[in-house]
Amino acid sequence: MPDTIFHKIIRREIPAEIVFEDEHLIAFRDIAPQAPVHVLFVPKTDIATLNDVLPDQAAIVGRLALAAADYAKQQGLDQDGYRIVMNCNGHAGQTVFQIHLHLLAGAPLGRFGT
Ligand code: 5GP
Repeated sequence: MPDTIFHKIIRREIPAEIVFEDEHLIAFRDIAPQAPVHVLFVPKTDIATLNDVLPDQAAIVGRLALAAADYAKQQGLDQDGYRIVMNCNGHAGQTVFQIHLHLLAGAPLGRFGT
């Protein structure tokens, strides 16, 4: 079984500040926030990277995005805006190999790139 730090959070083996959970996914605050609001949305299905998502798993990725949008609305972040990011492999700086979506918000964000 894959065993990343996020699997340990799902299994409650290490603590995290969980802000949302349902049968499909969990959302918790990033331990090293890059914005005033930085929440990670992680599916409970084991998928290492976006490269590994199968066509019949598209709903898993969709649910992450909709959960992030719902959270942003619930927190009143939707009108000012927010960014969602999914890093894939080395050049993007992926460090945890269980797919996850970053929600960044709470202040104007710099442009991204190199
Ligand atoms: P990646 O670079 O793989 O897209 O993002 C992994 C994220 O997980 C990073 O932003 C990092 O700060 C966060 N992270 C790593 N370890 C932990 C942890 O133990 N707890 C929490 N809440 N976040 C973590």
